[in-house]
Amino acid sequence: VSGLVTLLVPGSLQPFLPARRRRERVGAAVDGTSTIGHLVQSVGVPLTEVGELLRCDDEGDAAAGEPLDVEARPRAGEVIRMVEIGRPQPTPSAPPRFLLDVHLGTLARRMRLLGLDTAYRNQAADDELTRWALAESRMLLTRDRGLLRRRALRRHAAFVRGDDPDLQLHDVLDRFDPLRRPWTRCPACNGLLAPVAKAEVDSVLLPGTRRCYDEFVRCTGCGAVYWPGAHRHRLQNVIDAAPGAATEHDRGGPTR
Ligand SMILES: [Zn+2]
Repeated sequence: VSGLVTLLVPGSLQPFLPARRRRERVGAAVDGTSTIGHLVQSVGVPLTEVGELLRCDDEGDAAAGEPLDVEARPRAGEVIRMVEIGRPQPTPSAPPRFLLDVHLGTLARRMRLLGLDTAYRNQAADDELTRWALAESRMLLTRDRGLLRRRALRRHAAFVRGDDPDLQLHDVLDRFDPLRRPWTRCPACNGLLAPVAKAEVDSVLLPGTRRCYDEFVRCTGCGAVYWPGAHRHRLQNVIDAAPGAATEHDRGGPTR
């Protein structure tokens, strides 16, 4: 070890630092061969959460600073500012496709309720998730920082903030601002929903449902039948939990 690089960490990224080092200026040991990307991750901040790295003067002023490539090798004594990734963040595909890590099943259902293309399986190894995200140009959402360290996922993965699904959904909508189209996807399998005539699904309906509802949709993937009216209250709760949400209605599209 030949010295320290000073990393300037914005407040929004400080939660990634170990509790005892949670402050703006953090020293990272350099040996002349480590890349700046490696140093940033060595203090606990996933590169997926960093937009830019700026070389600063000793006062931390980045005005004259130049953006650094993550492969750049900083020298001892340098001061480098991390800038959080901008929101809304571009995604590998438009409209965005998502892939959720195995522990985010509740979030997956809520995202599907809002019509977001959300792949999810409750069992998948990290290698499999990585291949899947890249093969289908999906943004992988996870709370596993080990997964976020993978180089291939640099712009294909994101940390989801919050322990509970309400906070997580809020974070995802705020970060990517995807177009919401409620009740266009099956919450169970992510398949597209299509309107279906009542007569066609009559045989699977319970008498109470048959009496109370006239509008039905069926999943083109798994065949599940839904009557959105029965879920309107629940769906409204999901939408209300996401203030600032842009639905197709807000953008002048058809309502549902
Ligand atoms: Zn389905």
